[in-house]
Amino acid sequence: MAEAVLHTKQLTNYIDGIWEEKAVETTPVINPATGQSIVDVPLSTAEDVDRAVAAAKKAQKEWALVPAPQRAEVLFKIGTLLKERKERLAQLLTMENGKVIEEARGEVQEGIDMAFYMAGEGRRMFGQTVPSELKDKFAMSVRAPIGVVGIITPWNFPIAIATWKSFPAIVAGNAVVWKPATETPIMAYELAKICEEAGLPKGVLNVVFGKGSTVGDKMVHHDDIRVISFTGSNDTGRNIAAECGRQLKKVSLEMGGKNAVIVMDDADLDLAVEGILWSAFGTSGQRCTACSRVIVHENVKSALEERLLAAMEGLTIGNGLDEKIKVGPIINQAGIEKINKYIEIGKQEGAKLLAGGFELKDGAYAGGYYFTPTLFTDVRADMRIAQEEIFGPVVSLIPVKSFAEAIEVNNSVTYGLSSSIFTRDVNQVFQAQRDLDTGIVYVNAGTTGAEIHLPFGGTKGTGNGHRDSGVQALDVFTEWKAVYVDYSGKLQRAQIDVE
Ligand code: NAP
Repeated sequence: MAEAVLHTKQLTNYIDGIWEEKAVETTPVINPATGQSIVDVPLSTAEDVDRAVAAAKKAQKEWALVPAPQRAEVLFKIGTLLKERKERLAQLLTMENGKVIEEARGEVQEGIDMAFYMAGEGRRMFGQTVPSELKDKFAMSVRAPIGVVGIITPWNFPIAIATWKSFPAIVAGNAVVWKPATETPIMAYELAKICEEAGLPKGVLNVVFGKGSTVGDKMVHHDDIRVISFTGSNDTGRNIAAECGRQLKKVSLEMGGKNAVIVMDDADLDLAVEGILWSAFGTSGQRCTACSRVIVHENVKSALEERLLAAMEGLTIGNGLDEKIKVGPIINQAGIEKINKYIEIGKQEGAKLLAGGFELKDGAYAGGYYFTPTLFTDVRADMRIAQEEIFGPVVSLIPVKSFAEAIEVNNSVTYGLSSSIFTRDVNQVFQAQRDLDTGIVYVNAGTTGAEIHLPFGGTKGTGNGHRDSGVQALDVFTEWKAVYVDYSGKLQRAQIDVE
């Protein structure tokens, strides 16, 4: 098992282009596969946030004046360095987060893709030119940077989500203060090192490590942070949105999901099983887009159960650095406890436990946080295990009688992130993409696997209408400015001096 080496015992904040002194107060970063400490991370204070914001505010003024194609060149260099270090980053990512190495490589690749994609945006960033209603007058709309942007990210995608947010912010001429999740700060440290090496001017990206309740909270309340881009849980997101609303601060939220795969009775069942396995048990079910419900047509329910159970037997559980492992650990003990709680709830609600349902603590699993891939069947759509986000390798099979009922069940949750349908019927495909109330819809694929040049985010309780990644991410980090140039030499009044 190859294991990258981190050449420091303590991560330090990166503020105004300077790697700060070691902090007095720190907490260990635990490898969830082993329970062992990898490195210490600072528990920064509100004053650290103040300094980072001041540095960002100063740097942003100059950065905004650098032509966007030149800003983009720095991103291109960042992408090149990410590519060169892909394997090292992937190994460190597996060590801090637990996801298996193949998925970690995929996550780093998302960051690489995002860097090159946003570097391209530096030469686009399209506005509009439109005809004016008046003679000798020119009208256009342009994107303007907003200023200092606050980015708050979760532990389950420690590098990809940060790049979805920071790269569009940077190419658009903003400066960033980033608070990564305390469980997974190593990717933030490595990415900041790469940004420094690529020549990103000091102060354009600042990383402040520490708790959400101190560092994150201070960022949300800070007057000079004009946008908060947050990904994480609904409870935290709602509180952030309430405070940002009070301040009239722009806020973009990407939160939970309760994503479903629909399997119709004409589906390729083997393909559906592959899709379910990958999206339900990949990242041990700790993806916002993870499949945690399978809505199955009653005609194929038994056949699907049988094939799914057989396929689950092939899932190897263990340390994700081992290339043979398919399911890595859960992030921490709190994650295990939450999953255990839902297993009990499912049993009490009368769902039938077909496989798994227990944690693994002994032998090779000692010290780590492991949970067996779990399958419930005969689940009703209104049960809590079919409504609430569990964030673990737990899938609930919900039988339905028709396509219409499948759509209704899919849409019956408060979330709206991702959905999928397996069918060979082209009419059902198009009806489904129209009627599934989620921000992402897959046909004949599982619920995960977003590509970075498309908008990422959800409807209903998953978000507040904004999107990460894709060109749409620029809407979060820019203001639209309408510009009118009158070259008639006289005062022309819109709506009045129109002949
Ligand atoms: P979380 O507890 O809400 O934490 C997310 C981030 O917010 C962390 O950096 C956290 O800091 C910080 N935070 C906590 N309290 C805060 C506060 N009062 N003010 C400001 N920041 C605060 O979520 P999580 O458990 O890490 O992440 C899992 C959730 O994220 C799941 O619900 C998942 O579905 C969702 N998610 C959504 C998407 C999407 O795009 N829709 C993608 C990935 C994950 P700490 O370091 O102190 O924890």
